[in-house]
Amino acid sequence: MTKRLAVILIGLGLLTGAALPPTGPVPTEKPSAPADQPAVPAPAEKPPEGEESAPAPVPAPGPPPAEDVVPAEKPEDAPAPAPKVRLPGPPPPARGLPPVPGLQPAKPAAIRVAPEDPEQFAACQAELKTLGTVFETAPPIDDGEGCGMSNPIVVREILPGIKLAPEATFRCETALQLAKLTRETIIPAARIALADKGELKAIQQASAYVCRNRNSAATGKISEHAYGNAIDIAGLEFDKGSVPMVIAAQDDGTFPAAFQRSLNAAACLYFTTVLSPGSDDAHKDHLHLDVIERKSGYRFCR
Ligand SMILES: [Zn+2]
Repeated sequence: MTKRLAVILIGLGLLTGAALPPTGPVPTEKPSAPADQPAVPAPAEKPPEGEESAPAPVPAPGPPPAEDVVPAEKPEDAPAPAPKVRLPGPPPPARGLPPVPGLQPAKPAAIRVAPEDPEQFAACQAELKTLGTVFETAPPIDDGEGCGMSNPIVVREILPGIKLAPEATFRCETALQLAKLTRETIIPAARIALADKGELKAIQQASAYVCRNRNSAATGKISEHAYGNAIDIAGLEFDKGSVPMVIAAQDDGTFPAAFQRSLNAAACLYFTTVLSPGSDDAHKDHLHLDVIERKSGYRFCR
């Protein structure tokens, strides 16, 4: 009898034990975090990927840019970086010129410069005409490897009677900024600083549209010249002689140096990239100007 009782009791014990909440090491609620323990900040997932994490497009005060554009901050070009995407298709013509007239931009994804907005392009042309620029439109250029533009123009005279020598092919916006810079700064400043040279007759350009990488390097980023966004000025031709672009030291007290410094500085009001003569090794004898678009309208001028 007692045996049976014991068995029953044991059985009951097991049953109740199973039904009751465990009394042992219970997985109580989450370990109540000690109040004084600082909350662990959520791990900032995605560590900055090496570059352009800074919101403000401030140029890294680091190494000088390779050319054309600042490599360091590079906040420009909203569209995906997609540099030089090669799409299947007909082999691109040999890199460089001349542009192939009539060749449709069959690889729009490879052209970083977006097609011109028709209204903006029309407005740009109207402004150029108002300024007296002598130009004509040209067929789209697609030289492959990302080089090209949808609405090139060929400029012969940047302002009435002032040639662009040799004539240049580039985007309307580039021409417009150059025309304004010439009219509003180069001519008035030259009349003061270079009065003995007479009137401006031509802007000597060293490079407008050309399908190449920055600094003409074999590899690397494509140059703004390859989008029609850039112009290199090598010198200015006046009635009484030419004036080359020169490295103008701050302590050079001559009029020509003052003129060059004025031009370098004023160009930044029109172009978003200005690389003055002497700004780096690749720019010793010319003034590089381009209209690349950067976030927040940032300009890179040195
Ligand atoms: Zn250039």
